[in-house]
Amino acid sequence: MERTYNFSAGPAMLPREVLEQARDELLNWHDCGLSVMEMTHRGKDFSAIIAQAEADLRELLGVPANYKVLFLQGGATMQFAQIPLNLLAGRSADYLVTGAWSKKAFKEAQKVGSARLVATTEASNFTRLPAASELEFDPDAAYLHVCSNETVHGVEIHDLSAFRTSATIVADMSSHILSRPVDIGQYGLIYGGAQKNIGPAGLTLVIVREDLLGRAPTNLPTMLDYAVQAEHGSMLNTPPTYSIYVAGLVFQWLKKQGGLAAMEQTNIAKAKLLYQAIDNSGLYHNPVEPACRSRMNVPFTLNKPGLEELFVAEAKKQNIVSIKGHKMVGGMRASIYNAMPPQGVQALVDFMQDFERRHG
Ligand SMILES: *Cc1c(COP(=O)(O)O)cnc(C)c1O
Repeated sequence: MERTYNFSAGPAMLPREVLEQARDELLNWHDCGLSVMEMTHRGKDFSAIIAQAEADLRELLGVPANYKVLFLQGGATMQFAQIPLNLLAGRSADYLVTGAWSKKAFKEAQKVGSARLVATTEASNFTRLPAASELEFDPDAAYLHVCSNETVHGVEIHDLSAFRTSATIVADMSSHILSRPVDIGQYGLIYGGAQKNIGPAGLTLVIVREDLLGRAPTNLPTMLDYAVQAEHGSMLNTPPTYSIYVAGLVFQWLKKQGGLAAMEQTNIAKAKLLYQAIDNSGLYHNPVEPACRSRMNVPFTLNKPGLEELFVAEAKKQNIVSIKGHKMVGGMRASIYNAMPPQGVQALVDFMQDFERRHG
């Protein structure tokens, strides 16, 4: 069977080998007579699965010992509220708004407590990152929140040091976590919904420095309290067991690919191929400043009106799907996460060039 190249922003493609292994183990995991879906989360089998997943993730990301890894639910969207609820402790937090997702995070934080805008690039339609001269940090902020890869607008922070502040940095990495090595020590907390670059939907990953735990007010609902979740090994209630299992298979797959340094090289090559095809064409256009273009989410428009529906329909015939852009920016968007093979990007580029020859 030929696999479809799925350019969806999320839920996104998973590595074929991971799906095959999940299929092979579906009815009877490691001869225990049960599917992972049927296992008690308190038993030794699932305990081994979650412990292995955490160990592999720690190894891949180089997570220091003084950070907790939490496997939560509610998506990155829940974190927009859970972060200020846990970390504000009556103070104010700084928010950098560089696209649709950080804008949402900022709005949600304002519902919970005091949140302050450091800078926004909305007036430039989120096609760039702010310059140092535009940044106004609050030296007493409880934390600075950034979205290091804006999934809708295709803007990625490649160098965090441009946003140096004395405040603890909290980052929404939903759509580029595990795509490149990252120095976890630069952050107080990072988080992401799993369905982009980690595994199936239903799982939310939070990695948090231990000294940030225990700041939550005593009336915070138990489920939302990071310290309680950490104390219970992410099993205060029933965790999303199957999503954790598949995420664990993805972590093992990443290790087999050579880890995050090797993934980064592949991701650089994939993104370069696609951006060059866009920049060298007369039909396609990406509006983002080259220095902050995302390696994971590549939005592009067609310069000639009335071609979008045809583009999507013809792409589908080439097994290229979910290429339509977010309604906020229009046009097309190709999400090329870890699981998108280089051949998939090549197939898209071949199709785009052929489409331009016929319709451009
Ligand atoms: C998808 C996405 C979210 C929302 O994730 P959910 O898990 O659906 O809540 C938040 N931030 C970024 C950067 C995303 O890409």
